Amino acid sequence: MKKNGCPCCWQQLPYNVNCADILLQEPASATPRGKMEPLQKKEIKKKIQAAITETEQGIANLKELTKPVAPDNAIGRLSRMDAINNRSINQSSLNSSRHKLNMLNKALDCIDDPEFGICADCGEPIPVGRIMIMPEANLCVRCAA
Ligand SMILES: [Zn+2]
Repeated sequence: MKKNGCPCCWQQLPYNVNCADILLQEPASATPRGKMEPLQKKEIKKKIQAAITETEQGIANLKELTKPVAPDNAIGRLSRMDAINNRSINQSSLNSSRHKLNMLNKALDCIDDPEFGICADCGEPIPVGRIMIMPEANLCVRCAA
């Protein structure tokens, strides 16, 4: 028995057509695939700006923590080793925070571009939920994995 519905979403359709056919029939002025609502963009913009502020604060903290470890005998040899270890951990967090900040700034720059929210790898729209959690992401979950 053949089901009378779209093969991709099983939505009941009047004719023997599927969603792709309907999308093709839409006038050129129709919302392009993956295009975000202005309200969503506004939310995402706020999210990016908040993330930038947060990341900048984190970077400022990490910069403080990654200052050269003073060869101060007062803190003792072991604590100096600890300090050096912590410093290299903080140094790598600092690098990734800087990278994140770059990505966030880029995202903020191109939020009004039609390509915003489109996976840089496969060209599929990135779900808004993912963008809200990781606004710096320019790859979909599948491509980022
Ligand atoms: Zn992708």
